[in-house]
Amino acid sequence: MTHPFLDLAPLSAARFAAVEDRVARLLGTEQDVVIMQGEALLPLEGAIRGTAGPGTTALNVITGPYGQTFGNWLRDCGATVIDLAVPFHTAVTADQIRQAFAEHPEIDFVSLVHAEAATGNTNPVAEIGEVVGAHGALFYLDAVASVGAEPVLPDAWGVDLCVIGAQKAMGGPAGVSAVSVSERAWARMAANPRAPRRSYLSLLDWKERWIDGGRKALLHAPAQLEMLALEACVERIEADGPAAVMARHRTAALSARAAAVALGGGVEPYVYEAAEAAPVATTLRTPAGVVASEVVARALELDPALPLAAGGGALAKEMIRVNHYGADATPGAVRGSVAALGAVLAERGLRVDVEGALRAAAEAWR
Ligand SMILES: *Cc1c(COP(=O)(O)O)cnc(C)c1O
Repeated sequence: MTHPFLDLAPLSAARFAAVEDRVARLLGTEQDVVIMQGEALLPLEGAIRGTAGPGTTALNVITGPYGQTFGNWLRDCGATVIDLAVPFHTAVTADQIRQAFAEHPEIDFVSLVHAEAATGNTNPVAEIGEVVGAHGALFYLDAVASVGAEPVLPDAWGVDLCVIGAQKAMGGPAGVSAVSVSERAWARMAANPRAPRRSYLSLLDWKERWIDGGRKALLHAPAQLEMLALEACVERIEADGPAAVMARHRTAALSARAAAVALGGGVEPYVYEAAEAAPVATTLRTPAGVVASEVVARALELDPALPLAAGGGALAKEMIRVNHYGADATPGAVRGSVAALGAVLAERGLRVDVEGALRAAAEAWR
């Protein structure tokens, strides 16, 4: 008897290339799309190490924990890094980017996270792209938490390096990821003596040995199961329609936000402005004296299947994350999360309106 996912025929180069083309269609891009055999941090790091060096002046926008990581990689590459950190309850604005260019006209690289699953905000990439483009800087975007939940359009927005992973709103595997690379970004890498070469981090290896060779021979054995899972999740998005998938995420976010407001008890949406709240996940602030990680732990005792998490690091005290993405971008997942959180807060003596919160959550789906 053949095993359903062990005894598979080898994945051909043609199939691998076809999956790349499918991802390119999803992003509406004419740029080269390179699929990388690892979690999204692989292309995120590879793209920075490929393009940044001692001659680079990078504007690193920090709207959540990943921005910190990118800044560290950029510094490690020898780049001069200008950090632009905004409070986690808000998004960055195009004006702040414009201001940074006015103060530092030498900026030639901008790194930005589109949506932040970890803090619940989403940044206005289209507007920021116009500013970055006007100054001719290379534009690097982490779209892992936005792809599938909201539009991600590297060509329309002038993004030179757009990294995606399938494990959030695409409802797919975490073990493969992809990056779209513009001609300008390839040129930067080719001119960068420090760009990784003959390395697992190297995008140039894929350019020279895969793309320029007409995508006939893979660099190494493909991660077959992950490639099949990636293909399947893109296929599913195509079948459902990307607009419908994004609408489900947007509605889940509106639903969770409305429920939090109606719940009361001192619980508030963590991101102040609804327009800056990410469709991928909704973050809530717990009232003073109520430890978010304890609330989440108790809620998960009531129902371990709920898509709940506490914020990372210091945020664990005050932030609850409702990760309503992928298979959890549903009325049921939001409803269950609200009901469990409401029950836990009521247990602790907070005056919460669970019925009102559930009504508000349901209203958003109508
Ligand atoms: C989830 C996510 C990633 C992927 O990183 P993991 O730590 O493996 O989940 C990268 N960037 C952003 C913005 C993400 O939300």
